[in-house]
Amino acid sequence: MPCTVVVGAQWGDEGKGKITDLLAEQADVVVRYQGGSNAGHTVVVGGETFKLHLIPSGILHDHVLSLMGDGTVIDPQCLAEEYTGLRERGVSCQGLRISGNAHVIMPYHIVLDRLQEESRGKSVIGTTLRGIGPTYTDKAARMPQPVRMWDLLDKDVLRERVTGQLAEKNKIIAALYGADPLDVDAVVDEVWQYVPVFGGHIGDTRAVVFDQMARGANIIFEGAQGTYLDLDYGTYPFVTSSHPVAGAACLGTGVGPTAIDDVIIVNKAYMTRVGAGAFPTEQDNDTGQLIRERGKEYGTTTGRPRRCGWLDGVALRTSAKINGATGLAVTLLDVLNPFEQVAVCTEYRVNGETLTMMPGNLDLLADVEPVWEELPGWQTEISGCRSLSELPAKAQAYVARMSELAGVPLKMVSVGPGREETIMV
Ligand code: GDP
Repeated sequence: MPCTVVVGAQWGDEGKGKITDLLAEQADVVVRYQGGSNAGHTVVVGGETFKLHLIPSGILHDHVLSLMGDGTVIDPQCLAEEYTGLRERGVSCQGLRISGNAHVIMPYHIVLDRLQEESRGKSVIGTTLRGIGPTYTDKAARMPQPVRMWDLLDKDVLRERVTGQLAEKNKIIAALYGADPLDVDAVVDEVWQYVPVFGGHIGDTRAVVFDQMARGANIIFEGAQGTYLDLDYGTYPFVTSSHPVAGAACLGTGVGPTAIDDVIIVNKAYMTRVGAGAFPTEQDNDTGQLIRERGKEYGTTTGRPRRCGWLDGVALRTSAKINGATGLAVTLLDVLNPFEQVAVCTEYRVNGETLTMMPGNLDLLADVEPVWEELPGWQTEISGCRSLSELPAKAQAYVARMSELAGVPLKMVSVGPGREETIMV
């Protein structure tokens, strides 16, 4: 604090939602800086589970301003449903502010996402089919008159934008993919029905952040997905279409890099990955299956089983560097409770060389051999531990080793999904 970035150090699903929610107790503002409804943060409060795809995790604290920054992309239907669902469960949502500059995921983006994935055949990326890639593509392509959140405030402007967009999109949909074109009125009406739900929350989020910074507020910058899903620093092309890394917190919210005080990287006690691509420490066996079952490693958004494996110290070390980490939060440590031995990859071997950092050319990942270190498992329940010293010595040694591999101090250890099942170091 005061300006802290919370970023996933792996391929996403690290439990960032829980960590952000916890830090939000002390925060004044939580701002999402990238991604769309492909995120899936699960926060458990008082035994109640909240699944958030789009709205920042700070929303569960009434005193917190929850901002969706300029760098996010927003699906109006998803936003309206999430907002309504939260309201029905007694969450006020009063602190929600949505950047007018955020690009809108339109029905044609969702159609194109599906058509593009279908046309990729064996080279399928495994997107969540929520239109996020096509929306960021349009943003980067500087399409004339794309739809941004500001444009939802006036139906005539929205219609003008949709008319312009469909003039091009329908040609692609019909000529390239042989699919049915979309109707302007149908698209406008579909989107317009959701605007009354959240329209009052659209505004200038950058101004809010600047104002709060001037007041010395505690601000959390919340990323979605994780470092290795970053468009530049991830395992391209099996990545997301935005930048989850900490540097993007500035781009997606409008603050300068010198404003950031702390960067907390969130890493599970093991690794997971969704979809295709190399995964050096994968355990496609009983070990992986036990981790999957204990960690409930199935996608929040898609329900897809996640691939599971032992901790990758090379990935962790590199992630700490890429994000400029100042602290490490270890999550899901309790998942490893039953193991007699736990393995950690400390280095890679490839073509006769030893690598301590991820290769610049991540294509090499497919060929690396992990160098393993075995640590004794603790084989006892740890979810009741509330301080490091209460953890079994072997579990303490494990998280200490993680911090050593990352090269950053340990700040938090999560020993269960609940807010209270956390050790603050
Ligand atoms: P996020 O997108 O990074 O927030 O991660 P997800 O929400 O997809 O995945 C984290 C999952 O692990 C959620 O179901 C959390 O409730 C759960 N979780 C978080 N921390 C812990 C923990 O320490 N132990 C256990 N068992 N579950 C946890």
